[in-house]
Amino acid sequence: MGKVIDIQHLKKNFGQHEVLKDIDFSVNKGEVVCIIGSSGSGKSTLLRCINLLEKPTAGEIIYNGENILDSKHDIFAYRSKLGMVFQQFNLFNNMDVLHNCTVGPAKILKQPEEAAKKIAMGYLEQVGMENFINAKPEQLSGGQKQRVAIARALSMKPDALLFDEPTSALDPEMVGEVLKVMKDLANSGLTMIVVTHEMEFAKEVSDRVIFMDQGVILEQGSPDDIFNHPKEVRTKQFLERYL
Ligand code: ADP
Ligand code: MG
Repeated sequence: MGKVIDIQHLKKNFGQHEVLKDIDFSVNKGEVVCIIGSSGSGKSTLLRCINLLEKPTAGEIIYNGENILDSKHDIFAYRSKLGMVFQQFNLFNNMDVLHNCTVGPAKILKQPEEAAKKIAMGYLEQVGMENFINAKPEQLSGGQKQRVAIARALSMKPDALLFDEPTSALDPEMVGEVLKVMKDLANSGLTMIVVTHEMEFAKEVSDRVIFMDQGVILEQGSPDDIFNHPKEVRTKQFLERYL
């Protein structure tokens, strides 16, 4: 199975603070990887380095066989191949739902307006938001906003979707509708990297679970390995809080 992204010896410092320490990480096509770990362990920084919202201090990011950190590579083109879904939705508040989903494809992928609309409508249907295309984000619930954010990310036809705690800002009654959409995507074969505290979700949908601790990948394996047979004391301690 081909690797979509292959990261080697990734380091990230903020000043003197070494937040990521020599991380090796790759994701295969169609794989669903969940990243768990305590607050401050570097999960968001890892995702942000993967799509170059943060510039790594050192390391390589191999994409299609090339290190995209070499200066000759177009990081905007690379970034457009990785969709990102944020905890706080980050929708464009001045645009309606449909426009949120067509602006990227039209401006960045240069898709004709009608084609962009058609593709976006397909994804809005997939997330159950096709009846809200003229609504502004402020008129939507958190769960609805997040489903639009997922449709927006999919409209760019990404090679992989990166989720950073997509349900952490939601009222409890809205978590399920977003996880349902994510489960369907996982089952459809989309490549996904998901930072989450939803342990049941991670157990159910992950091909691989990564436990991060203090800037390193302390342990990784199948959901059964990590949740039922964790090797590291820190993993056990972390999981005990969720059981
Ligand atoms: P997590 O997502 O696992 O909670 P983060 O990646 O957000 O962890 O943060 C890891 C560490 O990096 C924390 O100590 C945090 O304070 C620090 N950090 C994150 N972003 C910045 C930044 N822009 N400037 C300085 N420190 C940062
Ligand atoms: Mg985080």
